[in-house]
Amino acid sequence: MHEVSLCRSLAAAVTRAAGTRRVEAIHVNVGQLRQVVPEAMAHAWTFVVRDTELDGAALNLTSLPAVLACDECGASAELGPELGFACHTCGSAQTHLSSGEEFTLTAIDVSDDGDRRGEP
Ligand SMILES: [Zn+2]
Repeated sequence: MHEVSLCRSLAAAVTRAAGTRRVEAIHVNVGQLRQVVPEAMAHAWTFVVRDTELDGAALNLTSLPAVLACDECGASAELGPELGFACHTCGSAQTHLSSGEEFTLTAIDVSDDGDRRGEP
């Protein structure tokens, strides 16, 4: 189960970053192409952090769409399942993904000092 190994990596990174502070929540950006199932991820997170210093920390996932950018005309568009990897505007095959493959820890909310980030 690929979510468990993702959560183990996340937990290790969060533990390193938080030190002795209590973690209330973490925020993670997940690209659509990572094929992470949010429910499976939430379940895996609960399992991985149980009885650790991160027990009780909330996992907040933000899903990022896969975006295809054209190297020829500069257009970019959200990648749809039916459209393939050609530019939607000019039809060029010279394209690359400008987002969609992220798996990024963007913020950690801790409870006991001013180091809060990721609040709207
Ligand atoms: Zn194009």
